[in-house]
Amino acid sequence: MAYDDSNIFARILRGEIPNDTVAQNDHALAFRDINPKAPSHVLVIPRGAYVSFDDFAANASEAEIAGFMRLCAEVCAMEGLSLDRGEGFRAITNAGSHGVQEVPHFHLHILGGAVMGPMLG
Ligand code: IMP
Repeated sequence: MAYDDSNIFARILRGEIPNDTVAQNDHALAFRDINPKAPSHVLVIPRGAYVSFDDFAANASEAEIAGFMRLCAEVCAMEGLSLDRGEGFRAITNAGSHGVQEVPHFHLHILGGAVMGPMLG
């Protein structure tokens, strides 16, 4: 699937739309979900143009992947969700129509602050 740079997260990265930034580095940005599904609901996105998790995992550089993953860990620590500081979290990504992905720019949802319901049930 070709990347469409009119998507809302691309616009956030270009500074065209405001966001509630939690943390950032050279390769990724973390901000609060506008419609939170948990007391803490943060989205982590790469700065690069990747449609989905599989696109990012296959095509991003090692520096981009490391930067993205380190920012995820930073968010977990900052939000008090890491297992050494808190009670844990759920990290999920939706891809494509079967995954019910709304925004076609890869993002990881980090959710915590309460017991999550069962994923599959
Ligand atoms: P998806 O179904 O995994 O693509 O989820 C997209 C997420 O982006 C949803 O949880 C939305 O609430 C969230 N979202 C959409 N627009 C914005 C925004 O402008 N700021 C923050 N979150 C957003």
